[in-house]
Amino acid sequence: MSEPKVALVTGANKGIGYEVARGIGATGAVVLIGARDAARGAAAAGKLAAEGITAEVVEIDVLDEVSVSAAAARIDREHGRLDILVNNAGILVERGQAPSRMPVALLERTYATNVFAVVTVTNALLPLIRRSPAGRIVNMSSGLGSLGITSDPENPYAQFPLLAYNSSKSALNAVTVSYANELRNTPIKVNAADPGYCATDMNGHAGPRTPEQGAIAAIRLATLPEEGPTAGFFSEDGAEPW
Ligand code: NAP
Repeated sequence: MSEPKVALVTGANKGIGYEVARGIGATGAVVLIGARDAARGAAAAGKLAAEGITAEVVEIDVLDEVSVSAAAARIDREHGRLDILVNNAGILVERGQAPSRMPVALLERTYATNVFAVVTVTNALLPLIRRSPAGRIVNMSSGLGSLGITSDPENPYAQFPLLAYNSSKSALNAVTVSYANELRNTPIKVNAADPGYCATDMNGHAGPRTPEQGAIAAIRLATLPEEGPTAGFFSEDGAEPW
């Protein structure tokens, strides 16, 4: 029997990230619950353990380079490699201001978590992912980051005036392609997932989909076979327009 895969999901203590961890764990992987608050992480890992999933908490605040390095060192010490990284932690901090009224500070704050931290976390963990025979990196994007979708005035997503959030997810898509291109001649695949509009704390539980439904695309990309795609952007229904 081959060794179980080791997967880290950032922001896995609740919402879509929790369900991604649950789905990856259900495939038999050891799932590392990335949480910036150890107690919230432990509560989530406990719930998963009660379902028979092998879950461990890894304290990681994606905005804190010291915390990210410590998490990478711990995974190295305890597992020696990482097979799956899901960069799920994300924030939405604006209140629907028109772009012409948007304070740049809100863009900076949003990009720090949704874009720059993905680079910090990926770079810290890439040495461990390179040791995997089939590394998979999934970045949790959004349909709101799709220029194809949001530039269509008939599409309901064109009505969300979220300059900071939407553009951060467009940037995340570009980050995804950059890493996929760098890693194209390795076994590592890098893709972006669109979960759809899901009811979570991020949107006051307004979305029509469940977090479990939102997790489907990312779980699929995290467990892609060797012939699967890289440098793509996928919802549960297939390829999304950039
Ligand atoms: P959520 O319920 O608010 O969960 C966000 C998670 O990210 C929480 O675990 C949160 O931790 C964590 N997080 C935030 N900042 C962090 C940091 N600095 N370090 C570590 N963890 C941090 O939101 P969600 O809806 O599940 O969102 C998950 C991902 O899906 C995000 O990237 C979001 O942009 C994306 N997404 C969501 C939707 C949707 O409809 N909900 C649609 C498209 C994309 P705490 O509990 O400690 O705050």
